Amino acid sequence: MTFDVRLGLAIAAGKMSALSIRRLGRGGGTALPGIVSNTIDNDILDKLATRVPGGCVVVAGTNGKTTTSRILAEILERSGLRVIHNRSGSNLVRGITAAFTEQVSVSGQPSGQIAVIETDEAALPEIVRRTKPRLIVLLNLFRDQLDRYGELDTIARMWRETLDGLDSSQTLLINADDPALAAISEDSPATRLTFGFQECAHTLDHLPHAADAAVCRRCGATLTYDELYLSHLGAYHCMQCGYRRPTLDYGATDIQLYGLESGHLALGTGEDALEIDAELPGLYNLYNVAAAAGAALTLGMPGWVVKAGIGEFKAAFGRIERVEIDNRQLVLMLIKNPTGFNEVLRTLAMSAMTDPVMIVINDLDADGRDVSWLWDVDAEHLAEVDAPLYTAGIRSGDMAVRLKYAGISPERITPLGDLDGALDRFIEAIPEEGTAFVLPTYTAMLRLRELLYQRGVVQMFWEQ
Ligand SMILES: [Zn+2]
Repeated sequence: MTFDVRLGLAIAAGKMSALSIRRLGRGGGTALPGIVSNTIDNDILDKLATRVPGGCVVVAGTNGKTTTSRILAEILERSGLRVIHNRSGSNLVRGITAAFTEQVSVSGQPSGQIAVIETDEAALPEIVRRTKPRLIVLLNLFRDQLDRYGELDTIARMWRETLDGLDSSQTLLINADDPALAAISEDSPATRLTFGFQECAHTLDHLPHAADAAVCRRCGATLTYDELYLSHLGAYHCMQCGYRRPTLDYGATDIQLYGLESGHLALGTGEDALEIDAELPGLYNLYNVAAAAGAALTLGMPGWVVKAGIGEFKAAFGRIERVEIDNRQLVLMLIKNPTGFNEVLRTLAMSAMTDPVMIVINDLDADGRDVSWLWDVDAEHLAEVDAPLYTAGIRSGDMAVRLKYAGISPERITPLGDLDGALDRFIEAIPEEGTAFVLPTYTAMLRLRELLYQRGVVQMFWEQ
């Protein structure tokens, strides 16, 4: 291979900017190096991606992409592969470029044998075009709080175009329980594989507030759910045209939830079933586990490696995290949109907990400026448990009002206001050696981690 001077310069510049950002203590240096190296060589990502011997795997979806891509990377690493991965969760083109720049030599030799790329929904078309992935894993499409104007439909259309442009050497693994994903992948020339819940005792009896009415993409009639598991995910069919959920290649059975600690599922049936235990709470995480396991099996990983990799996995930064502070345990669970929030609440309600809960709502750009999304959340789940409830953050008051309208008695609700002042008061309210839950929006999580870092109980994320 001849030495590509432009590429070499781009990589060197990217690496140096990453290094100097870290020296300056300016955060994780996750995006700027990508911008720098991309300015010098516009094709840097395309060039580096084609040099990865085992090819690229792209993971996308509204919820669960960080967890799923991390589980998959863990499984692949356990098999002895070195994995290029945008581990920081910086999932736009520049962050992904930065991750590649960091994980190659200056001459452009990748340090990994395979790449696992978590991508933002809107960035998927460009990432797929530039990295030509061998496998694309699509998890779900949920409306989030930023989406009041049909952005979700735009993304579904963009994804369909991308999938239609794949070729038969590429493989798609989709969550068939999401009717939108099943529909947009129908005509793709790629090999399509599916995962989903084949059999699950945890069902909903109606679509939650946050879910869209599911419409048959073939004929426009409302879909009928045989089973509804989470938001609009389930087993469905159309009464009018007979369309139904595609057959599952990786169907999860024997789905068990063990409170807030862990869960179990089996992939396949009979003696060949792969029994998987995961230290991740909630049904939503079992979808992530099924996706990562299906992806790993598709890539040829042996079952025991898949099992072991998932068993070892600990929750990704920002999703579920436990920290010790003053002899108390805080469980941090990020809430970034109504569906994610609902699943966290449902998981808390199912474990009938009495531990204090603090919900921290900010309304900065990254959280969504409009907090009316709180009304799409089934806060009524919290009426089913006896936990004392605290609210904090910029919109502490709005969250307290939402809880009151959920039928929770005002004596159980304490609005604490600004997070900086709220944290210590909340910690004081937790019994010694007790556990409590903190549910922050995105920017609230960042601030919370800063506050915990100042108290010496967590590391900043780039140090992990
Ligand atoms: Zn139909």
